[in-house]
Amino acid sequence: MAEAVLVIQPGREKPILHRHPWVFSRAVAAVYGSPEPGDLVTVTTQDGAFLARGYWNPHSQIRVRLLTWQDEPVDESWWQRMLAQAAAARAHLSQGRTGGFRVVNAENDFLPGLVVDRYGDFLVMQALTLGIDRRKNQLADILAGLLQPDGIYERSDVDIRSKEGLKLETGVLWGQPPPERIVMIEDGLRFQVDIRRGHKTGFYLDQRENRRLVQELVARHQTTQSDDLSLLNLFSYTGSFGLHALAAGAARVINVDSSREALELAEQNVLLNYPERADRCKFIQGNVFRYLRDQVSEGQQYDMVVLDPPKFAQSANQVEKALSGYKDINWNAFRLVKPGGWLLTFSCSGAVSPDLFQKVVFGALADSGRQAQVVRHLGPGDDHPVALTFPEGAYLKGLLLRVL
Ligand code: SAH
Repeated sequence: MAEAVLVIQPGREKPILHRHPWVFSRAVAAVYGSPEPGDLVTVTTQDGAFLARGYWNPHSQIRVRLLTWQDEPVDESWWQRMLAQAAAARAHLSQGRTGGFRVVNAENDFLPGLVVDRYGDFLVMQALTLGIDRRKNQLADILAGLLQPDGIYERSDVDIRSKEGLKLETGVLWGQPPPERIVMIEDGLRFQVDIRRGHKTGFYLDQRENRRLVQELVARHQTTQSDDLSLLNLFSYTGSFGLHALAAGAARVINVDSSREALELAEQNVLLNYPERADRCKFIQGNVFRYLRDQVSEGQQYDMVVLDPPKFAQSANQVEKALSGYKDINWNAFRLVKPGGWLLTFSCSGAVSPDLFQKVVFGALADSGRQAQVVRHLGPGDDHPVALTFPEGAYLKGLLLRVL
């Protein structure tokens, strides 16, 4: 059957010509043919000129996710080529077969709706859209041929699937089931990852470069200052920032998170790498908002504070509330940094722009009565590229601040 044709409203072609990957329902003038959900459609102007090709979902406000802007077939060899291109850009991160990194970053790798992460011998796939969900077995086969994992596990347990008319799904997609815990190596440190139940696909791979930065700063402190470094690692999850600090010789690492399971894994990760330094670490289950206030009233201070909260704004209408949350925790965090110390502060809310985030952090600083310098603007590592045509892809931002 011939591919259906979707005609764009006159005047609404521009984002498509600029290669933004989403076609919203309001931009659609007509659909000719009767595509099934997930089928490929050809997108044209009113005059029938080819614009792009993508997959269709009548249940989503994003009616088409575009795959190509050339009039070429999107067949098995097309998917093969795109996956190989994404994988090749990460070849330097493999560390043999032990490393953890993102292989496919969805829209940002021009494969809308598809996330693939690697943890050692296993791949974890998230099918975020109907078009990908329908093809996930085919994609798993291609990935298996390309990357030779022992198994591919699906973690499509993400709420945004409901906007696509999809249910949450998890399970083995290809090959062997993963073990309860996978040991992944990052910069020589071993991390246990629970790919079946952990957050996202098991680990915050996007913070790798920033963990490395923490390790560098701690190492620098150890060589230039007489006293030993203390780190307050807030929203610690499985303690990744803390372990990198410990590796560089931090004297005290305090991890705070609300999740008991995450903290248990954090403690096991310390024991796996530095059993002899375990007594330098604390794992505190609690609410960071309250913990910060208590620490301030006790007059505690640290050489370094890492503030890596979860996504406070799920969408644009939650931005206001998110900003007051960011302000509160940053205000207290500033007050906990020793003069001359470091604050690394992050936001992973896509709806909060880097500019806006910096403004809120500035507001928090002003209220804290402290002074600070931006030493670096932080973002995700190079396995999480952002397509220049897709600003929505830039969700993670942070600041390295020297606090005076
Ligand atoms: N820094 C971590 C990732 C943090 S993700 C890393 O590098 O791996 C956010 C974490 O915040 C999650 O582990 C979640 O359990 C925790 N969390 C969410 N709300 C919280 C709260 N109010 N207080 C403490 N922890 C919270």
